[in-house]
Amino acid sequence: MALIVQKYGGTSVGSAERIQAVARRVVETVKAGNDLVVVVSAMGKTTDGLVKLARELSSQPSRREMDVLLATGEQVTIALLSIAIQELGQPAISLTGAQVGIVTEAEHSRARILEIAPDRVERHLKEGKVVVVAGFQGVSATGDRDITTLGRGGSDTSAVALAAALKASACEIYTDVPGILTTDPRIVPAAQLLTEITADEMLELASLGAKVLHPRAVEIAKNYGVPLVVRSSWTDDPGTWVVSPVPPPRSLTGLEIARSVDAVEFAVNQAKIAILQVPDRAGIAGQLFGALAREHVDVDLIVQSIHEGNTNDIAFTVNKQSIERAQAVAEAISPVLHDHLNPIDAQVLVADDIAKVSIVGAGMIGRPGVAAQMFKTLAEAGVNIQMISTSEIKVSCTIAATDCDRAIAALCQQFEISTSSNEIDTKYITAPSVRGVALDLDRARLAILQVPDRLGMAAELFGILAANNISLDAIIQSQRTRIIAGVATRDIACTVAQGDAADAKRVLEASAAQLGCGAVVVDESIAKVSIVGAGMVSNPGVAAQMFTALAAAEINIQMISTSEIKISCVVARSQGIDALKTIHRAFGLG
Ligand code: ASP
Ligand code: MG
Repeated sequence: MALIVQKYGGTSVGSAERIQAVARRVVETVKAGNDLVVVVSAMGKTTDGLVKLARELSSQPSRREMDVLLATGEQVTIALLSIAIQELGQPAISLTGAQVGIVTEAEHSRARILEIAPDRVERHLKEGKVVVVAGFQGVSATGDRDITTLGRGGSDTSAVALAAALKASACEIYTDVPGILTTDPRIVPAAQLLTEITADEMLELASLGAKVLHPRAVEIAKNYGVPLVVRSSWTDDPGTWVVSPVPPPRSLTGLEIARSVDAVEFAVNQAKIAILQVPDRAGIAGQLFGALAREHVDVDLIVQSIHEGNTNDIAFTVNKQSIERAQAVAEAISPVLHDHLNPIDAQVLVADDIAKVSIVGAGMIGRPGVAAQMFKTLAEAGVNIQMISTSEIKVSCTIAATDCDRAIAALCQQFEISTSSNEIDTKYITAPSVRGVALDLDRARLAILQVPDRLGMAAELFGILAANNISLDAIIQSQRTRIIAGVATRDIACTVAQGDAADAKRVLEASAAQLGCGAVVVDESIAKVSIVGAGMVSNPGVAAQMFTALAAAEINIQMISTSEIKISCVVARSQGIDALKTIHRAFGLG
């Protein structure tokens, strides 16, 4: 007999009829010979309504009382669903988070699950009952055993955590969409349903998929190897499986990792090529990476920094073995990219003595300080950072090869990682190179100009943002240094949530001047478009294809930042939707 955990979201239990429909599906699942635990959300928009009520009474209601309030939403649903299931002749029992023993940190409104005691649920299952559990809530481990909530969207987390604790054979997330799609179907009606996606891809697509499945739930599924599927409550269609390689055994105490970083990775024998001062216009990146792809040069990191005086710098890394080919391509195409205006040798920089170090972990989503912590650690170890590139779950820095061992040791110590690993990753060699495309219209670009090129500057600047609870991504450091009053300076840019941009500018401006930096510039009229696919690791030319497609649509790329399985471009906001459609089409995802 298989044990299944099913989770039904707010829309799926939004009315008495819908609860009845859920009850029927529950009974069918039991009749098919399964033990069943059901996790539910609050009905419809109940939670929003409760938040609104509290706000009518206070602009800053106590977080403890908010948890007491919001937890009632799920409690309504568990009782109603149990009644509906019993009405169909199937024994069922409702349990709150505390009754199950979902023990969390005492952090109200954003508690992480520490442990789930399986005994009571197992006892009721043995009695032949369906156990209906309130999602999103738990009980604090310490003190007065208060009601806690896990944060908005937290019932996905409850469901997958229960599945992990009960060693269920699957966790099924029922929602009002058919599964995970290749992109947002409201913008691209041709978006296709995916039959599967890797957990890492899902996490990198957080901006696309988070509404369907909470990243914390994906992280638990990945850590504990919980087979996870997202499907529609209204149909019997198979939905989308979220797959991960079988993880090493892991303790169930401290269930949601308290750590933000899971791994320190490195790649040695890397080389960097930078092409400086190319014109800021559509098609340049496409030409360059197209030429590299034709020569079968496998490019790893790519960064393109903000422009200064209407030119861009583009830098990329390759394995040392390809350096000669890559350099030849870059030098041959450089005059073309520069419109034959400048002497070429000053424009192509090659460094063949670099290494890449990365920190990886789903826990860094929503934790602003992690990247800053990495930069600080490197600075304290005396390691200068050359290139920075970040994604949702990874921050990579290129450094001098001679600094590599020291950097790894410092990072492992800082993040309490026992062994670092060589990045080479062949586990998803058969995955498609592009699984999905995401558009983020909620970003603004933040640039700090003329940052003195000295150790620890990135740490200082991003530390300030982190201290103000501002999350950022796509951090890029320009290649070119400009001498201002005898000091070499670089520009650093990143993207932040639009709502944080004004704050970010304000807090940075105060310190930037003291640190000897130039102006802090915000541009809100941007969009970020990203492709994600585990198979791009082993497929040269994916980036070129993306850039070429954008060029063909006459879309200028303002910034580029990549991680192992993701490539992001910043474009003008007015072209964001067009960019998404173009790329989705270019990779034949429709
Ligand atoms: N009811 C909570 C919310 O609306 C939890 C959930 O539905 O996942 O955020
Ligand atoms: Mg949800």
